[in-house]
Amino acid sequence: MAAGLPLEPTDRKSFRPLLLMGPPGAGKGTQSRAIGRAFGIPEISTGAMLREAVRRGTPLGLASQSTMEAGCLVSDNVVCGLIELRTAEPDCQRGFIVDGFPRNLPQAVFLDGLLLTRGKPKALALNIRVDRDVLMKRLAGRRECPVCGTAYNVYMSPLQCPGLCDADGADLIQRPDDREEVVQRRLEEYDRQTKPLIERYRSLGLLREVDGNGSPEGVTAAIFSILNGS
Ligand code: AMP
Repeated sequence: MAAGLPLEPTDRKSFRPLLLMGPPGAGKGTQSRAIGRAFGIPEISTGAMLREAVRRGTPLGLASQSTMEAGCLVSDNVVCGLIELRTAEPDCQRGFIVDGFPRNLPQAVFLDGLLLTRGKPKALALNIRVDRDVLMKRLAGRRECPVCGTAYNVYMSPLQCPGLCDADGADLIQRPDDREEVVQRRLEEYDRQTKPLIERYRSLGLLREVDGNGSPEGVTAAIFSILNGS
């Protein structure tokens, strides 16, 4: 992390909700965790909530699994319901970061209405721009520890022991939707449904953009300088 970044929760009372935008593989999850830790606000990932529901075999998980594994978007009702409930929790009252929502116009309109009804400030969207060839490499090499959640990339961060988590030795897993044919579908869904939202937030004066091609630490530093100036 860059010098001078707040490593402890700051004394700032509240933050605008922050929406991390960008294609799959842009590093939204990594950046959202870094920002959340530094500012002491929760990071919410609809994808992680859905994967957890699948893992636990809940009715919601069972209903969403095949859609997710095909690289398509699950229904707006489901994800809007998740966001409505999660953001009502006490830890979200100072602000929160969302990774992976909204993914289309109806979800963006829903979020606007939710924040307005609750008397909260409008959300700021942060677009992480990454070149397609970099994305493909990141997604194909992405592995995750099922125990501690640490993310790795087999091409970019050599492991102490191939296939095993450096922290706890668990067998690393590849997300079913990171398989090449599914990645293609997810990128198409992104281009068709999510990318147009960037123009929407830009026209509302609520968009910030960062170059996400570099190292995670470099991107975090760039994001902090943007957020500290907002
Ligand atoms: P992510 O981890 O954000 O890439 O999400 C993984 C998968 O979960 C996506 O490919 C979708 O199937 C589903 N998903 C996550 N967030 C949303 C959302 N906001 N709207 C619809 N589907 C979502």
